[in-house]
Amino acid sequence: MTSREYIEQAMRTHHGEYTFEGSEEVPPQLEHALWGITSESGEMADLIKKAKIHGKTLDTVELIGEAGDMMWYFALFCDALDISFEDLWDKNIRKLQARFPEGYDNQEMLEKTNRSGEREELEK
Ligand SMILES: [Mg+2]
Repeated sequence: MTSREYIEQAMRTHHGEYTFEGSEEVPPQLEHALWGITSESGEMADLIKKAKIHGKTLDTVELIGEAGDMMWYFALFCDALDISFEDLWDKNIRKLQARFPEGYDNQEMLEKTNRSGEREELEK
């Protein structure tokens, strides 16, 4: 299955009717996607919490199911912005290559953070 096929199949289950107004910049579909990505992330965190805090066995079947739910919302996000998963992946890799041309380096990351002066601003 290609990403376009996935998005098409996923959007078969999108009702597409909203009870709230969007705007040209933030259509309801985009807002729906972002709320959904956030809530599915919370469901995944809850499974980890149950394992780490309550000593339950990590339910990887549920975890993968929640990741799939999150993918549905990413499909909605991509559909709202008319972008493919491939374009999203490509943009992300190009951003990471620009940020870390030699690969991730923790020391370099710390130095970049220090140079930004953000911490000093927060401590004022
Ligand atoms: Mg879910």
